[in-house]
Amino acid sequence: MFAGVAFPSIWERADYDLIVRGGTVFDGTGAEGAVRDLAIAGDRIVAVAPRIDARAREEVDARGLAVAPGFIDIHSHGDGNMESDPRVESVIRQGVTTMVVGADGSSRATGAPDKSFASMFDAIDRLKPGPNVASMIGFGEVREAVIGDMDRVAAADEIKRMVAMVDAALNDGACGGSSGLEYTPGAFASRDELIALARPLAGRRLPYATHMRNEDDRLIEAIEESIAVARGAGCPLQISHLKTQGPRNWSKLDKVFLLVDSARAARTDIAFDRYPYVAYATGLTNLFPVWSRDGGVDRFLARVSDSATAGRIRQETLAKVELIGGWDNVQLSGVKATEDRDAEGKRLGAYAAARGQDPYEATIGLLTRSKGDVGMLGYAMSEENLEKILSHPLGMVCSDGGGFAVDGPTRRGSPHPRGAGSFPRVLGRYVRERKIMTLAQAIRKMTSLPASRVRLLDRGRIATGMAADIVVFDPSTVADRATFDAPFQYPVGINVVIVNGVVALHDGQRAAVGSGRALRAR
Ligand SMILES: [Zn+2]
Repeated sequence: MFAGVAFPSIWERADYDLIVRGGTVFDGTGAEGAVRDLAIAGDRIVAVAPRIDARAREEVDARGLAVAPGFIDIHSHGDGNMESDPRVESVIRQGVTTMVVGADGSSRATGAPDKSFASMFDAIDRLKPGPNVASMIGFGEVREAVIGDMDRVAAADEIKRMVAMVDAALNDGACGGSSGLEYTPGAFASRDELIALARPLAGRRLPYATHMRNEDDRLIEAIEESIAVARGAGCPLQISHLKTQGPRNWSKLDKVFLLVDSARAARTDIAFDRYPYVAYATGLTNLFPVWSRDGGVDRFLARVSDSATAGRIRQETLAKVELIGGWDNVQLSGVKATEDRDAEGKRLGAYAAARGQDPYEATIGLLTRSKGDVGMLGYAMSEENLEKILSHPLGMVCSDGGGFAVDGPTRRGSPHPRGAGSFPRVLGRYVRERKIMTLAQAIRKMTSLPASRVRLLDRGRIATGMAADIVVFDPSTVADRATFDAPFQYPVGINVVIVNGVVALHDGQRAAVGSGRALRAR
């Protein structure tokens, strides 16, 4: 009766909400993949087996594809545009189902009663962004709330208040504490202050995640400080976006790994993350010292031509360019002045040489004509070191990127392509092409490893009872498409993304919105 007509909801009750059939399932632990069916009921994985002879309301054909736990981005700024576009499309399209925000010392809440993590999490639940959101408590945010922007030592009662805020945030489900020691006011924190603020993390086994005080000439000292803070507090340490900036510092990576090994031998639980790009993107004025830029672009341009300051600015800028590795490691991106559009995409050294100019003078000319509005890419990082950091057993994948879409209000400016490309780039460029690690290892670095780090204990693995966050992708085609010149491009080869049992992306097309929620660490 009614053979061939599929009305399972009426004639034959569906056993599950969703079945993903026939894919090569990587469980996230680093184990090799095996062909499996997996069944989902509600927001949970309820069965994983070589064959599931049951029916579901919806089925995904994953034959020939890889099935992995949804990726967890342990260092994300993807919440920045969340209110103007809750889809957070560039994150979902990478297969990322959970973004860990509150990085680099700044977070959306402080842990104070009027800016609590509980109310922040409730607001995220109401917003229903595409991906899940977990958050650390930013130590810079806490300092700002208690002390303000002042460069001074915290008094004992101020430390007490800051620690209470950190503690409250952790009680509400913050998944770690972060510092940004190259930013203000985070940079004003002493080592003792950082230890005090990190101490509440210890009992909960949550990490102190740090954008270190320095990532170039004083890298080793910065690593030592980070280890000292974690050791003093007794908590795990997560070094954010580990890098060796500037060619003259590239040789320091072996020493970094030695420090990491000896800290582990002394029982400090330490790990790190990295985004898969060797260039950073910033404004061309960032080559110039901070003091010369104080007060805005007009005052900056006045100072570079004022004989009282010009010499010192030139000297400090040349030192910075030397650190990056020379003028040809500076690539011009967006240039505002129309008469200089031909400069876009050129290396500054070559650009100046072609015009018979001194590169410093050429830079001043560009900045003057564009009123400071010139973008640059700094190729200051080593490709070889990037591969060593990513493939190291303690290395995880992060994006450090923003969230945006190719359409709608978040398509603006010229964001770093890492916000749309990081995870597919690791799978395509570093696993398939460069073969620096196996697919199973790379998936672990994107799933169970970060999940265990921030104690999202029911995520990051495919197993019965785990949250139904899943990504289905094609290992033979997966690749990033976003570039520094054209960042508004989604990756390819990511077929299906499931968040909390909801199919958010299907056949590479948007299927549902509002799949994500706030995740509280336990
Ligand atoms: Zn950072």
